[in-house]
Amino acid sequence: MGKNRTTEAVLPKKNLKANGWNYHPDLPLANPSIFVWPPNPNFLLNWVVTNWLSLSERVLLVIISILLWKFCYPNFNSAQTFSFGWIAQTYSVNFLTVLTVAGSLHWYFYIYNGQKLRLKFDPRGMGKNNKLWDFSNQVHDNIFWSLGSGVSQLTAFMVITMWLMANEISPTITASSNPIWFVLSLMILPIYSAFHFYWIHRLLHLPVLYKKFHYLHHRNVSVGPWSGFSMHPVEHFLYISSLCIHWFVPSDPILVIFHVLWLGPGAAMTHTGYENLLIKDKRRLALGTFYHQLHHRYYECNYGNQEMPWDRWFGTFHDGSNESTVQTRNRKGKLHI
Ligand SMILES: [Zn+2]
Ligand SMILES: [Zn+2]
Repeated sequence: MGKNRTTEAVLPKKNLKANGWNYHPDLPLANPSIFVWPPNPNFLLNWVVTNWLSLSERVLLVIISILLWKFCYPNFNSAQTFSFGWIAQTYSVNFLTVLTVAGSLHWYFYIYNGQKLRLKFDPRGMGKNNKLWDFSNQVHDNIFWSLGSGVSQLTAFMVITMWLMANEISPTITASSNPIWFVLSLMILPIYSAFHFYWIHRLLHLPVLYKKFHYLHHRNVSVGPWSGFSMHPVEHFLYISSLCIHWFVPSDPILVIFHVLWLGPGAAMTHTGYENLLIKDKRRLALGTFYHQLHHRYYECNYGNQEMPWDRWFGTFHDGSNESTVQTRNRKGKLHI
């Protein structure tokens, strides 16, 4: 998720059309990674406060996870045996959660036009009347893949995980019995998820896998909330396999739900096409990053996210500059010969 939350007013810039962007943050992109040496205590403290001690996207997802666990998902004990009732209930909750998050963000940004072009990276809207898309419509295409393959596989992985935990095949803890591990796990899961995503994403950029599977997500050059979880079923399988960590590492079901939300609705929250949700001209929620927008335009760069160090360590970082674009195009040329 994006990290550029500030409370300064958003003022129009004169050079909005540089390289065809409607908006971009100050370039070259800064390095907001917590993995820097030597560690900077002030920066780390600020990272914790920004992400975990304020109403951030992460804290919102934790609150939603607890509410869904208490009031919407089936009773944990029912997961001891596979049966239609609790699996259908789990599917319904996942379906409605993705529909609500992606649908409301899409409505706000692209139908109600609540922010117009303010903080929107790519000036283009959603594609229509173009055979590139299934149903000739980008949004309908994205909804189809997100709610069809995406929610089904998210539910399948979650059901297996819950069954393993309910039968004590996988190690289980509770927030009350292991509060420190619970809180630590919440903080580590997005980091683990980013690491897992970086590597499966690099794998998907091997030309043979890209042409067969990953192209489907990349048809979205100008992205919207429904684009985030719109993937080929094979990519969904690899992406959601991140949940298998709970098969081996002691987890509370709330941690599994948080992880499910991070992967499903969370993908909509990182692909709005805007940097932040503005409320009264103040940046309130980071709902997209220029970092990943660059990936959607230039492909062979920024496979992970800006907060994690993987792209910098493995030489695939695009900082938004023209020099990085040249390097990325060279890398693309070598990969696709
Ligand atoms: Zn993407
Ligand atoms: Zn990609």
